[in-house]
Amino acid sequence: MNRELLRKLPKVDEVLLREDINELIEAHGRAIVVDSLREGIEFYRNKILKDEINSFEKEEVINYSLGIITKKSKPRLKRVINGAGIVIHTNLGRSLLSKEAVESMAMVSESYNNLEYDIEKGARGSRYSHIEDLLKKITGAEGAVVVNNNAAAVMLALNTLCEEKEAIVSRGQLVEIGGSFRVPEVMKFSKAKLVEVGTTNRTHLYDYEDNISENTGVLLKVHTSNFKIMGFTEEVPLEDMVSLGEKYNVPVVDDLGSGVLVDLSKYGFIYEPTVQESVRKGADVVTFSGDKMLGGPQAGIIVGKKEYIDRIKKNQLTRALRIDKMRIAALEATLRTYLDEKEAVKKVPTLSMMLLSTEELKKRAQRLKRKLKDAPNHLEVKISEDYSMVGGGSMPTETMDTVVLKIKSTKLSLVQIENYLRAYEIPIIVRVGKGEVIIDVRTLLEKDYDIIGEAFKGIGEE
Ligand SMILES: *Cc1c(COP(=O)(O)O)cnc(C)c1O
Repeated sequence: MNRELLRKLPKVDEVLLREDINELIEAHGRAIVVDSLREGIEFYRNKILKDEINSFEKEEVINYSLGIITKKSKPRLKRVINGAGIVIHTNLGRSLLSKEAVESMAMVSESYNNLEYDIEKGARGSRYSHIEDLLKKITGAEGAVVVNNNAAAVMLALNTLCEEKEAIVSRGQLVEIGGSFRVPEVMKFSKAKLVEVGTTNRTHLYDYEDNISENTGVLLKVHTSNFKIMGFTEEVPLEDMVSLGEKYNVPVVDDLGSGVLVDLSKYGFIYEPTVQESVRKGADVVTFSGDKMLGGPQAGIIVGKKEYIDRIKKNQLTRALRIDKMRIAALEATLRTYLDEKEAVKKVPTLSMMLLSTEELKKRAQRLKRKLKDAPNHLEVKISEDYSMVGGGSMPTETMDTVVLKIKSTKLSLVQIENYLRAYEIPIIVRVGKGEVIIDVRTLLEKDYDIIGEAFKGIGEE
């Protein structure tokens, strides 16, 4: 260890007196600057203690600290480019909002608004009123209420209808959804008692019926969003559960998960049960997410029979799980587009990305390839066909044909390419294939093309 070197390390107080550092304090605040200087000096102190360096310049330490300031003064939550082709990418923020939804969100954030004010009556109003009529109109349900997310919606519905009572659910539907939503855990919090019936692959109507007693609170159906059981399987159709529920006067709760409001089989997708269908078939309460296939903000939407929705609204838990004005604004704007299905498939990004035509995808891939024409020539870029996923635990077996760029390099490994892109100023998230890095154009936005082009210009340098 070199004591001489340790003594040479700059002192925070000294550095703070410098003119250029003062400018940084004005721009970023004193706390960040001081912290960063300490961190930078500490970094060098450790290197000296470990005998990793035997000389340095003071200026070098300060420059290193300035780098930390730049990093620290930028927001942690930032935009990234989704080149992975997963439309509802849970790690990348799930669904993108439509332009209408974003504008509406900004409007209620910047101005006072009638969130809980009835303008006609000049009296207190309900925050749910802004979306309840729309949800009733679109889904055909008698009532609706919206909470923080679908996990909260399920918990709230069970707590209201089934507290200290039994919820009967098929073993095949005791699922775990990403972000650790586990049906049995959620039920524990709701204080409903879980009664598992049937087997993993087969559950029959009599399995439910044999377990109904005076302690039964609800019959629960959970959409196994993120996996499929194949082969020798049987699930009880919703309408049969509804008839059984009516016979014994037990409500049926249907957790749909994804919240599809448009029959996507018209567009060549496998059939996913829609919210409208679940309501039509007589489910008493239906719950679904706002930010999966619906393509809106994070929210848990509960629609169903008026008597149950009214009870849910009165539950004190609803207050704790409520959603804020920004998301109500975004959800209202998103739902409005669904009044006309043609508008919805155009304006809701989740839907429009899913429905992109192969021709359009090809055009986009060619455009991206042109943007990469100035990339260094150790790169090989080719347009290729591949497939994208819906994501968000929706349609797990469904793949969408897509067009991608496949990129490899004679100088860099796939991991190095992937790391470089991920570390870029606006991180570019890609898939790593068997022999290439893959950029799927399905999930790219208009503004992403130039950025990717710029990023590739510098790849593999230094
Ligand atoms: C995604 C999902 C949930 C959880 O919804 P969040 O909005 O993420 O809280 C619950 N149930 C099912 C069936 C789901 O697919």
